[in-house]
Amino acid sequence: MKILRFETSQRTARFGWLYEDLVGEIDGDPLGAYRRLDPDLPVDSVHLLPPVLPGKIICVGRNYAAHAQEHGAEVGEIPILFLKPGTSLIGPGEEIVLPPQSQRVQHEAELAVVIGKRGRWIDPEAAMDHVFGYTIANDVTARDLQRADVTWTRGKGFDTFCPLGPWIETEFDPADALITCHVSQELRQMASTRDMVFSIQRLIAFISSVMTLEPGDVILTGTPAGVGDLEAGDTVSITIEGLGTLTNPVIAAAKA
Ligand code: MG
Repeated sequence: MKILRFETSQRTARFGWLYEDLVGEIDGDPLGAYRRLDPDLPVDSVHLLPPVLPGKIICVGRNYAAHAQEHGAEVGEIPILFLKPGTSLIGPGEEIVLPPQSQRVQHEAELAVVIGKRGRWIDPEAAMDHVFGYTIANDVTARDLQRADVTWTRGKGFDTFCPLGPWIETEFDPADALITCHVSQELRQMASTRDMVFSIQRLIAFISSVMTLEPGDVILTGTPAGVGDLEAGDTVSITIEGLGTLTNPVIAAAKA
């Protein structure tokens, strides 16, 4: 099932589900008890929002060896973790805003895991029981600021730096899915999720040894090689086989 959040000119934000190209409302909480109502709105007629509002967005650095190499970095013994703030979230079609502090903003196409069941110290064997579904993320990064700082909070944390969507697919096999990223028609990234250094099971086990995972939390599983610069006027489209396409235009920040 494809779960999304949407709003229309008449109605405020709510959860929905996708049937072919029609959206039906969801009555209740898709992470808990809910009922699917009849699909009656063309998906093109609604404004899609980030498909979940996570309590936390946990990101994994250097989870594809070829991407680590392009930055001259080694893959570690354990995953590198960092967080993005909720204010970085935007939905499909919404604008990535280039901040004036950075001269080098880059895309990072990533598979995102949405947690459905709370847990701490989760065994790798039980990890998939804690997954609600999967979606697409762009871990937008101000590369110059990431490198200038000791921590990555500033380089990864600007408003609009976490496009997420277009929906959560609850029936998806993450073992060998192709990820591609195009910037204004140019192919920048292409890799399979099978090239991840740390599997989703290991990431869930490792992250939950640090912090309780809660329903709605989102894990960004790292980007493959091919990250590149974004300029105002670009359009970034990330496709993951079986999930769909997340597209966002890029604009320069308005003068403060
Ligand atoms: Mg990343």
